[in-house]
Amino acid sequence: MDDSPAPAGAIEYRCEACGDIQAAVALHWRCPVCGGALVIHPDVTFELCRADPEVGGVWRFRAALPAIPGDDRITLGEAATPLIALERQGGSVLVKLEQLQPTGSYKDRGAAVLVSVLRALGVARLREDSSGNAAASIAAYASAGGIGCEIFAPSATSPAKLAQAAAHGASMRLVDGGRPDAEAAGQSPQAGSAYAGHNWHPAFLAGVSTLGYELAEQLGARVPGSVVVPLGYGNLLLGLWEAFSALRRADPALRMPRLYGVQAEAFSPVAAAWRAGASSVTPARPGETVAEGIRCTKPVRDRRVLAAVRDSGGAVVSVGEPAIASALSDLLARGFYVEPTSAVAWAGLDLLPADADARVVVLTGSGLKAPGAVQDAVAAARATQHGQAGEPDHDARHGAER
Ligand SMILES: [Zn+2]
Repeated sequence: MDDSPAPAGAIEYRCEACGDIQAAVALHWRCPVCGGALVIHPDVTFELCRADPEVGGVWRFRAALPAIPGDDRITLGEAATPLIALERQGGSVLVKLEQLQPTGSYKDRGAAVLVSVLRALGVARLREDSSGNAAASIAAYASAGGIGCEIFAPSATSPAKLAQAAAHGASMRLVDGGRPDAEAAGQSPQAGSAYAGHNWHPAFLAGVSTLGYELAEQLGARVPGSVVVPLGYGNLLLGLWEAFSALRRADPALRMPRLYGVQAEAFSPVAAAWRAGASSVTPARPGETVAEGIRCTKPVRDRRVLAAVRDSGGAVVSVGEPAIASALSDLLARGFYVEPTSAVAWAGLDLLPADADARVVVLTGSGLKAPGAVQDAVAAARATQHGQAGEPDHDARHGAER
């Protein structure tokens, strides 16, 4: 079978909203006709036998990714993270250790493909608006690919959160105001620079989809029964849905795994839309949550996220701060130093029906990025436990298992 890369000009985008199809160009990150979000066109059909073990990182799945010349493919050895079984809910849950990716989060899958596609399209300088994992990841891959990188973040962002991206040589543009102001500044056109916003760019989503292929590989060419992920903008959930959809196109008998998105109650507009049976998301008034990675008032691809969950037979639920802190304490007690956002999915398990088939929970990011937040969450969980008179820590931690 011919997997040789097509010229970069062969990549096409399709608008989710109006269906317009256009050749990919460096400066297009949203539909030039209606402003809608883009996906890679056409939809992918993929069989696991087409994975190429000779190629490193996410590019093992290059047959399912935008076709770019091998010289433009950037990899830091991302992907192929361990999948291990843990006891939970009186049974076994499989945990996907994405916190072990090169920069410490699953976003490396998306960044590897996004930055590579932009390089193939001739981009020498890119812009991203993020103050967290995505900034660190895009900065690392841009640096590896010899591409200049600017990160737009709110001026109130703590220097510690930007340290990783800065260490990879990204220029910091601190913007007065909040997250929307930083986003607007990043999106504002600049000569000689392409906007690479990960929540918008279709190549990022394509990269994240490699997680779905890898899960099916690790389960012996089977898909899991369900996958549970933290949900903010929904990129992780959508990437999984795209992957399982690509496998289903190749094998129509394949059952789509149930996809469960778990939000922090303080930022739960998708869960609210799900409960209401809505097909789009109404922006939420933000609250406070320790789960920094999923602070999102309205996903860019809100309709697509809700439709994917519905198609999969899954659900969107939300968990409160005490449950997140308790779940983080449990993961730490089991030896996993993850960021609080990862604990949201672990907490959500208590709200979901048991699954007879393999259930996967994705741990999304490393605790090494947010030691202060991890420490605060542990302190909050201890305070809650001490408030429950006479209940020893161990029983509180494992109460959900009985
Ligand atoms: Zn459009």
